[in-house]
Amino acid sequence: MPRRERADDRARRAAAIVARLAEAYPAAVCSLDFTSPFQLVIATILSAQCTDKRVNLVTPGLFRRWPTPETLAAAKQRDLEAVIRTTGFFRSKARSVLGCARALVERHGGEVPRTLDDLVRLPGVGRKTANVVLGTAFGIASGVVVDTHVGRISRRLGLTRATDAVRAERDLIRVLPQEHWITYSHRLIEHGRGICDARRPACESCPLAELCPRVGVKPA
Ligand code: SF4
Repeated sequence: MPRRERADDRARRAAAIVARLAEAYPAAVCSLDFTSPFQLVIATILSAQCTDKRVNLVTPGLFRRWPTPETLAAAKQRDLEAVIRTTGFFRSKARSVLGCARALVERHGGEVPRTLDDLVRLPGVGRKTANVVLGTAFGIASGVVVDTHVGRISRRLGLTRATDAVRAERDLIRVLPQEHWITYSHRLIEHGRGICDARRPACESCPLAELCPRVGVKPA
């Protein structure tokens, strides 16, 4: 964060940033394909350390073969590993996916719960996945999803200094209006893919340029 910026000035700047993001990316949505909260939970577990594009190649086959929590809960670990292999870390992801499907069936009657507390108790589901599911599948603003794009750009924008996701989320929750918690992440992810690249941010064509102190960005 800019060292001498007062909290109310930062809040005003954050409000201007979210307004500018809304103009620049009015239609930004989660880039994982899903047709139900169940599918989104599983897709989000698979997206750890993997691109959404790759996950979207794998999930259609997975959900054709195991369309419900009940059928997935009965899958064999080895069969599931073969299907999700290309998403990386496939053994531990298969364990998480199976554990999650079984917990959904055993504890929640096959339904995805709608609270953060219940979601983070599911195997393979951390705070980030829970926020994704609550925000994207149910429209519940439980927190701010901080992935690599959101963390990096929020630091450049001076809205947090934290490099770990939990602390960064805490800072963002303080400064962002709650009605923007869900869309902020979707829009920043699109901004990170298109303009605020990790190595070469295109500051000269950035719609946030006047509002951004470019913390840690080396001049081109
Ligand atoms: S001005 Fe540069 S560093 Fe700031 S958000 Fe835009 S591209 Fe990223």
